[in-house]
Amino acid sequence: MKALQKEVFSDLAEIKDLPAITMDELAKHNTAEDAWVLIDGVVYNVTKFLPLHPGGRQVLLSSCGRDATEDFKMMHAERVLSDPKYKKLRVARLALEDLDPDEQKKFLARRVQEKWLPFSQPYWQDPRGTLVSPYYTDRHRKWQAKVHAFIATEIRPFVDQWDEQGSYPLSLHKKAYDAGIYACMWPKEYGGTPPEGGWDMFMDLIYLYEMSGVGSGGVMASWFLTGNIALPPIVDHGSQELKARVVREVVTGDAIIALAVTEPWAGSDVANVRTTAVLDESTRTWVINGEKKFITSGMTAKYLTVACRTGASGGHQGLSLILVPTDAAGLERKKIKTMGWWAGNTAYITFENVRVPYENLIGKQNEGFRYIMENFNHERFVACVGAACGGHKAIRESIKFARVRKTFGKRLIDHQVIRHKLADMAMKTEAHYAWCEQVAYMMDKKAPAQDIGARIALLKVNGTLLLEFCAREACQILGGNSYARQGHGQAIERMYREVRVSAIGGGSEEIMRDLGMRMSRL
Ligand SMILES: Cc1cc2nc3c(=O)[nH]c(=O)nc-3n(C[C@H](O)[C@H](O)[C@H](O)COP(=O)(O)OP(=O)(O)OC[C@H]3O[C@@H](n4cnc5c(N)ncnc54)[C@H](O)[C@@H]3O)c2cc1C
Repeated sequence: MKALQKEVFSDLAEIKDLPAITMDELAKHNTAEDAWVLIDGVVYNVTKFLPLHPGGRQVLLSSCGRDATEDFKMMHAERVLSDPKYKKLRVARLALEDLDPDEQKKFLARRVQEKWLPFSQPYWQDPRGTLVSPYYTDRHRKWQAKVHAFIATEIRPFVDQWDEQGSYPLSLHKKAYDAGIYACMWPKEYGGTPPEGGWDMFMDLIYLYEMSGVGSGGVMASWFLTGNIALPPIVDHGSQELKARVVREVVTGDAIIALAVTEPWAGSDVANVRTTAVLDESTRTWVINGEKKFITSGMTAKYLTVACRTGASGGHQGLSLILVPTDAAGLERKKIKTMGWWAGNTAYITFENVRVPYENLIGKQNEGFRYIMENFNHERFVACVGAACGGHKAIRESIKFARVRKTFGKRLIDHQVIRHKLADMAMKTEAHYAWCEQVAYMMDKKAPAQDIGARIALLKVNGTLLLEFCAREACQILGGNSYARQGHGQAIERMYREVRVSAIGGGSEEIMRDLGMRMSRL
């Protein structure tokens, strides 16, 4: 428990310079003109905040002059207090040293217990440091801490607001680049910033896990995922000239790129793509006509990697990838309102005689289908790891809530039915995470592509079923709170809405099951 205690004390260090007051002193501040409240050892002056309190003035006033930690935690998400506008209300701290030893012990034990959230994170990050793993070294741990810290300070506190607004500040791309996070997977020659000691599939797994932890699928997909699926065909197959033109700009966060494959008539079956690109020999330009649907980052992208029909033959043959700047004449985009991923900048895009230079062809003509398929394994692995992260989050939010909520005379978590729900979520999430690690290990050791592809396809199905299950069970545990787009249940409400797209996008469950079996040569 030492590491946990250290964490608790580092929390307390943040408030050590505040004046210390006793419980008796606190009790004097319990009027509308002078209202102080104690939460987790910190005293907040809420006098001016009383009329602004979303839950009403009276309920807050009734908590003043006393320790309202339990009531607060039952009503609010913990992250509320990290908001700078509430931090400003801090006026004192509880004089822990003046408490009698039993009270002191109780206070610290409660803090330690709150930090202890079993099955809520990858086992090897257990704060006690007792759960060993053969996969991770100090290099991995440092990387995890670095990415985690960036997301915890620069993204997570703001995602609720961004999601409601339907987008996020695009400056986030550059900020993440400057922090050495955004371009870790790209080569240095294009501005990539590989972490010290190099890259392997466990660095990748950690990265994908932390990226999924931003708390909004829309932000994650638009800010991080689309570049990672739209750029690889250019890096792997594009001409030197094309690479020099766009790769650095995207890698360094100065421009956004999106992948445009899906059409109103072509989703799972990419061979149905109807968008055409015809070469006008006189001007050496491609003339593009067609429609693309559900394009993540489509509203914000500067470039699109577009799947077009360039050959006479139908089906898988005759498809090419072409780079199209979104300011090209004849290109229009409209935002699609979606069930989840509100900040995903999802677009419907039309091309009417859009012209781009011949040199915008990515790789070889009519090889587009192969390039799209090459990309898929990693895109699906992102979803697999994201599901493990979602499972942990559902468990975490459920435990936090069930510990403070009381029904029928005891804590929710003390009801056996609720503990069984947590057990089911934990079993599925632990098993799924272990499978992710196994696949990462196989990829690292370059196991045959066919075997990896089959496993990733099934792992993706396993992940989305897990996510769906955990989102549902967390909703049941949080009750009505999980139905509100604010407060305690907001994270779970969003997870429940976002789960469907994981089961459909990047290869639906039906297609993945079939692919997994076909690749295994039944
Ligand atoms: C929010 C969001 C973001 C997206 N972002 C992008 C993006 O950035 N770029 C992009 O190109 N696309 C994107 N997509 C599209 C996504 O990849 C497709 O929705 C997905 O491939 C499924 O295609 P479809 O919706 O056309 O469904 P269809 O292919 O029409 O399938 C409909 C249903 O039938 C099932 N089905 C289809 N064929 C079979 C079969 N043979 N056997 C059994 N069942 C079958 C499918 O599983 C599905 O459930 C996005 C989608 C969403 C919802």
